[in-house]
Amino acid sequence: VSQEFDYDLVIIGAGVGGHGAALHAVSCGLKTAIIEAAQMGGTCVNRGCIPSKALLAASGRVRELRNAHHLKSLGIQVGSVEFDRPAIASHATNLVSKIRGDLTNSLKRLGVDIIQGWGKVAGPQKVTVATDSGEKTITAKDIILSTGSIPFVPPGIEIDGKTVFTSDDAVKLDWLPDWVAIIGSGYIGLEFADVYTALGSEITMIEALDQLMPTFDPDIAKLATRILITPRDIETHVGVFATKVIPGSPVVIELTNPKTKEVVDVLEVDACLVATGRIPATKNLGLDAVGAQTDRRGFIPVNETMAVLSGGEPVPHLWAIGDATGQMMLAHAASAQGIAAVENMCGRHRTVDYRSIPAAAFTHPEISYVGLTEPAAKELGEKEGFEVASVRSYFKGNSKAIAEGEADGLAKVIYRQDTGEVLGVHILGLHASDLIHEASNAIAQRQSVNTLAYLVHAHPTLSEVLDEAYKRAVLSH
Ligand code: FAD
Repeated sequence: VSQEFDYDLVIIGAGVGGHGAALHAVSCGLKTAIIEAAQMGGTCVNRGCIPSKALLAASGRVRELRNAHHLKSLGIQVGSVEFDRPAIASHATNLVSKIRGDLTNSLKRLGVDIIQGWGKVAGPQKVTVATDSGEKTITAKDIILSTGSIPFVPPGIEIDGKTVFTSDDAVKLDWLPDWVAIIGSGYIGLEFADVYTALGSEITMIEALDQLMPTFDPDIAKLATRILITPRDIETHVGVFATKVIPGSPVVIELTNPKTKEVVDVLEVDACLVATGRIPATKNLGLDAVGAQTDRRGFIPVNETMAVLSGGEPVPHLWAIGDATGQMMLAHAASAQGIAAVENMCGRHRTVDYRSIPAAAFTHPEISYVGLTEPAAKELGEKEGFEVASVRSYFKGNSKAIAEGEADGLAKVIYRQDTGEVLGVHILGLHASDLIHEASNAIAQRQSVNTLAYLVHAHPTLSEVLDEAYKRAVLSH
């Protein structure tokens, strides 16, 4: 430790990003402290990835066991399947406590000081922490801001946390409304639609843009609608804004056409989940003490080394990572950025390759992708002067998926026509979130379908769905 400072590194925010940065800092020999205002583990552990996946695990099994037709095709018969909502909710809560405890203990064991309180930049290489016993000042050679994000609630929508709520409350599964409106068809809205429909709720999905699942590749969004939306009798309202949501019994939702500004529908439902995106949690962080400020949406501007920028120039020894920077609001992106920030403060240049970071929706079946969608790849091709091609391979032609009795889905590979370089891979199907990593590696290494077509995959495995797509790409040349 430098004699001049209390710590080599102080991290504000103990979410996935802060945790990843702290672990890496310790392995680099840095004396590290982490400041957390609420619960260790942040959004992902307490209100995000972990509880939502616990609910999906339980509800997914209910769906599977209630699918008598599917089980019969495998030669299995089950009687009526019951579930206990409070027990499913406790499974999620217990998992969250366990992971939060493990994470906190691992940091303590490695010698990271955990400081409970509100952290704020107080000047160059200086932070203050407002704790129960007053405010204290800490000096550090480097500071990382990793304060995450909170749900965005559009104007006109009133949250009461009971009948109208965000994912912060939905993960608690306090009750099972008969009819839930979900505003937003991004991955959070889709995952909760999966949970609720498996447990018997009716769903209405409201999407402001002209297409459901607007961030997905259009072919994937189309097929996902056929697999995840239509057969589950999910009612959809697309291209309309929920301009007013009033909590109560019933919840009243006013839908407006954004072009004509006319109210086009008024819905009455039992509950409403608002899943309309997330905004950075960067208020009252003291950025002005070092002459920095957030951008107009509230994100902390950073360069490729994760250094905080002020007027386009890096602020010495101040770094920001994770959702607060808005680069790619996912847990694994936050920890990758944390590692990169620590490497850079140690004088080793490291950047994050966002092109090869995968994303997933853990629906049944899952959706996963890495790289560009076809429209985005074509746009890039037009700008840079290359043609784009794409191939599809369906799970219904995959022996393992057929053996599993879960052969719904598609893998789509988008690549440069001239060099064969893979630009994007999109998978909808069983275990898509695990299958995607082979494609991440291909994109990271700028591999070509011409090479990948000769990579041998074990048989019978789901991964052959990509093998098949790569081979088709080469045959179609
Ligand atoms: P956060 O996890 O938000 O942590 C920030 C922490 O900083 C918080 O604990 C906060 O209390 C603390 N803090 C804020 N300000 C201060 C301050 N001034 N002083 C001290 N502490 C402060 N991502 C995935 O990759 N996979 C998934 O499956 C997935 N599922 C999700 C499901 C849901 C329902 C939600 C909401 C999100 C999900 N995410 C998922 C996204 C993921 O949770 C976030 O990308 C991730 O948590 C970002 O990590 P972070 O460290 O940047 O911020």
